[in-house]
Formats: sequence, C-alpha cells, structure tokens
Amino acid sequence: MEQNNNETKQFEFKAEVKQLLNILVHSLYTNREIFIRELISNASDALDKLRFESNKGTEIEQNDLALEIKLELDDKNNTLTITDTGIGMTEEEIVSNIGTIAKSGSAEFLQQLKEHQNEVNNIIGKFGVGFYSVFMVADKVELITKSYKKDQPAYKWISDGLGSYEITELKEKTNRGTSIKVFLKDDAKDFAQKYRVEQGIKKHSNFISFPIKVGEDQINTVTALWREPKSSVKKDQYKEFYTFLTYDSEEPLEIIHKSVDAPIQFNCLLFIPSKNMDMFGFNREDYGLDLYIRRVLIQHKNKELLPEYLSFVRGVVDSEDLPLNISRETLQENLVFTKIANTVTGQILTTLTQLAKDDKEKYTQFWNEHGKILKMGYADYANRDKYMDLLRFNSSNSLNAKEYTSLAEYVERKKEDQKEIYYMFGASREAVAMDPHVEIFKRKGIEILYLYEPADEFVMSSLGKYNDFNIVSVDQADLINIEKFEDVESSDKKVEELSKDDSLQMNSLLSKMKEYLGERITEVKISSRLKDSPACLVNTDNTMSASMQKIMGIVNKDNAIPKKIMEINQDHHLVRNMLKIFKNDTDDQFIKDATEQLYDSSLLLEGYLSDPHKLVSRINHLLAESSEWYTATKNIK
Ligand code: ADP
Ligand code: MG
Repeated sequence: MEQNNNETKQFEFKAEVKQLLNILVHSLYTNREIFIRELISNASDALDKLRFESNKGTEIEQNDLALEIKLELDDKNNTLTITDTGIGMTEEEIVSNIGTIAKSGSAEFLQQLKEHQNEVNNIIGKFGVGFYSVFMVADKVELITKSYKKDQPAYKWISDGLGSYEITELKEKTNRGTSIKVFLKDDAKDFAQKYRVEQGIKKHSNFISFPIKVGEDQINTVTALWREPKSSVKKDQYKEFYTFLTYDSEEPLEIIHKSVDAPIQFNCLLFIPSKNMDMFGFNREDYGLDLYIRRVLIQHKNKELLPEYLSFVRGVVDSEDLPLNISRETLQENLVFTKIANTVTGQILTTLTQLAKDDKEKYTQFWNEHGKILKMGYADYANRDKYMDLLRFNSSNSLNAKEYTSLAEYVERKKEDQKEIYYMFGASREAVAMDPHVEIFKRKGIEILYLYEPADEFVMSSLGKYNDFNIVSVDQADLINIEKFEDVESSDKKVEELSKDDSLQMNSLLSKMKEYLGERITEVKISSRLKDSPACLVNTDNTMSASMQKIMGIVNKDNAIPKKIMEINQDHHLVRNMLKIFKNDTDDQFIKDATEQLYDSSLLLEGYLSDPHKLVSRINHLLAESSEWYTATKNIK
C-alpha cells in the first residue's frame, strides 16, 4: 500500500503494552483462536455504541450502512480481514485505546499473567486487553478506521507488535467503522481457512447480536435466548450462552431465567458462576448485568441493576418498558429501571434461599466461592431478613473449620433461656478456641460463632439482632446472662475454696497488682469467666468488641492501647501461689514480675503488644530461675 503523499507518524507502545505483547508472543497457546473472539467482540461493541448514539439522535457519518461484521479470508496471501461498521476511531482514540492500557491495576495484571501463563486465554478477555491477542497469530496488523463523527478523516494504523506502531491519515474515501487486516504467521495459516474460522465463530461468538458473515454467509444465529420461553431452551444453550458471556468454561452453579410481566415487563437470564471469577482481586470493579431494551444492548455490565454484594451474578436483563433513547446517566433515576433492579435483587435472594434449603452441599460450595462478597450486604436494610438467613458461620459446634451453620440453626440449638447469639473474632479456629474469653462459654456449653475475617466484625456489629436475639461479641457479653446456666463440663480437679482470711488477702493482692499496673488498666477484679487461664482483659464499656476497637484504631490512626479491666482467675495454680508469696512478703519482686507478665501476655493475645522486648527478657529471667529450682528439686548436678 503506497500512500506516499500521506503523512505517517511513528509511535512507541507504552511500556505496559510492550510487556503484554512480549508475554503473548512468548506464551504457549492451546487455544489461539480466541483472537477471533476478541476482534469480533470489539467489532460488536463498536456497533452497539453506534446504535446507541443513533438512538439518541446523534448525527452519524453514513447512517445508512448496515450494522454488521464481515470476515474476508485470503489463503493465498495468508490474511484474514475483519470489518465492522461501528463507531470507528479518531486519531487520538487510536493512540489512547490501542497504544496504552488504560485500565488501572495493569501492573499487577501483567504480573499475574506471567505467573499463570496457562490461563492467558481467559485472563486477556476478562481484563479487557483483547485486541493484543491478535499478535498471537499475526506478524503484522493493519487497521483502517473512520469515526462515526462527521468530517473526521480515516486513519491507517500498522504494527508488527514488537514495540512501535505508525499512524497515517488517509486521503482516499473510506467507509465508517473499522477494518483489521491480520497478516498470519506461518504457523497460523489455518486461520485463513473458512472451516477453521467458522468453527471459532460458532464456538465463541454465536450469541453476538449483529450478523457475522464470512464472505456472504452468515455464521452466527442471532437469538436473544433470554426472550425464549424457558421450556424451549436446552441446557446446552444455557451453558453456551454462559460461556459466551463470561469466558468461563465451567458449568454455572445456578441459572435464573425469568419472564416478569407485572408490574413491569422484563426478562432476565442470570447465572451464578461456580467459581469466584475475581481471580486475582484486580477485577473488583468488573461486574454488572448487560442491559437490553427491546433486544438492543444499551449497556454492558450495568452496575445499578445489582447491589455490589451480588456482584458475582452475571447475565442480561431486557425490558420493553424502558425508552430506547434513555441516557445511561438518567437510568438510575428512572422509576421503571429502579423497580426492575429491585425485582432482580429479590429474585437472586429468593433463588439463593431456595438453594440453601434444597441443596446444602451446593449452597456450601456457593458460600465458599461467593460468601465473602455476599456478606457485604449488611447495609441492604430492605432485604435484611433474607440476607441474614443466607449467612453462614463456622462455630464452636462445628467439627472443623470447613463446617458451617446458619443463624437459624444456631437459634435452634441454643439454650432455652438464652437471649443472645454470641460470636468471637480470631485469626483461626485454634486461636479462638484457646482464647480465655471463651472459657466460660465452653464450661456452660454455649455455642459461639467463629469469625475469621476483619470484615465480619462490621457485619456482626451492624446487624445487632437476629429476630429477637441480640448478637453479642463474647468479650462484651454480660456474664449475668451466662452464669445462670449449669456447667456442662465438670471441673476435673476441684479447687479448694479460699478461706475467709485468704479471700481478704486475695483482695489485697489484687489492689497490689492494680498499684503495679497503675493507669494502664481501670481495675483488677476476680473473674467468673476463666477456667484454664490465669488472667484476661475485658472491655470496660460495652460499645465495641476488642477486634472492632482494633479496626477503629487503625482507621483513626490511633494506636493507643485501650484501657480495660484485668480479670484474675483466683482458682488458677499460679494465682494461688502468688497469694502464698504475697502473704509471706507483700512486696516480693515476684508479684511485680508476675503481674507485668500476666498483663503483657493478655495484651499479646489481644494483639496490642507492640514491643515484646520486656516480655521476652522477663520470660528469660523466669525461665532461668525456674531451671535453678528444677535442677535443685530433681537433684541434677
Ligand atoms: P476492551 O475491548 O476490553 O476495551 P480491547 O483491547 O479489546 O479491550 O480493545 C481496546 C479498545 O480499542 C476498545 O475499548 C476500543 O475503544 C478500541 N477498539 C478496538 N477494536 C475496535 C473496533 N473494531 N472499533 C472501534 N474501537 C475499537
Ligand atoms: Mg475487547
């Protein structure tokens, strides 16, 4: 192609594009045909955008051109050309859309891509860098494009995908839209064969809503599956459509296909993926349902149709009752739209409730994959009841960390007069089970829900109540409500009660301990909650659980240690010995060391001990001393 009289400009790809291209060229592919899917998907997007502009009444270049996608194959010269009559691009648009990766998080994306080379095919499409996949099969690409905007020149873009590209303004007459000529690599010649290309289209692009033609033959069947009556859709079709929509090759966990007539007409076809598709956490913003109005795609991944906590749901919504020329900006304020969105949310929650009832195992699978996101629905007050029954927790009643319970099941098992639901936050099941605060609950046989993620704290403290039961953190529980229950575990060795005199001495000991700890705590008192541990810290006010306090401390950049009550287990072996030592000499250094140690250990358990040096040197000192006694009592020389 000679356009000597046209001016050609040279450009370098942005660094991240170069890296991406480098990965693509050096990866091994089992499935290179996905480049066809990506180019067709871009062509279809460009056509959707054009139709949208046209519906809005925007003035459009060559408005009479048929909206379609055409593929031309040349097996002599080994080229494949894909042409659309979509919105095209201006020069600036070429540079910003194709010369750079605009998405945020592209650095992490590239890192992930390097580490998961075998998943390259799916990752590319999901992150939205599909265009570059053409360089898996091409050693050169020539793109000619002309914008739908009036009086824009056409441009030619050429690149070998190595590091640079050039753009030339074209003087000759060009149709609106984009045409991409792919010069196939020697080992990719089969993509100039009709059967091969047709196969790829059928497999990946069958549901594109514009005609896709190879030569003169239309290859795809343009059906709006969601508009078909449920009874006439085959399982395979659902699966095929789901894969088309999500690039997920697995079966969806659940399909919701509904046709609603009153009060508002709409159809929806929704899928719950069997795996969490937010593969590496960088796709958090990539969700939403495709919104159609009378079979015309108005918006890909509309975020207002779904609350964020249901963002794992994929699919389409199509309504007769919205005006075709509605602008995306005003959708949210449209009453019909809001009603559709609310109904969709209701449908999904109902489906999940039913699933939880009918198939526990499948619901557990769902919870493992999507529970983290679903949990964030605590702010949806309108659907709170349904939401709460969908929550699952590990609990002291579960056999292991993988077993879950619902709030309803907890309530069924609770003690007859128990008015509260208890939970405890911790790093792991083992950590929670060993915490001093849970000892009394164990002793009384009261179930505790175990929470492991920081977000769980927000969930629980914002729920407050389940039916008539207050939801309470164990370190905030009022012990009066717990002590009234009989012990279920009988203590293995009975500890002798303190004599009257010793009780008085014990009180003096506690005062001494308070004297040593000073302003660091509010009070030292005898505990009724402890059994195996000598001491623990508890909240003075009941406003926040310990872990919530910690979260708020981080949020407010306040790392002061909150003042708490120190509770002492007067039946503990260590405390009994401290009493003896105290009675002998109220100023014995051991009392001071032990008090400091008990305080530091409690802080450590609560996650507040920022400087462990003192604690460690004290332990070393105590160990050294006890080794003396040990060798002496055992007569070791
Ligand atoms: P994505 O499609 O997810 O945005 P791609 O890498 O596939 O990512 O495409 C990058 C961008 O290039 C598109 O967003 C679009 O702006 C532009 N583009 C690609 N192909 C076309 C086309 N056929 N017509 C108009 N614009 C296109
Ligand atoms: Mg694309």
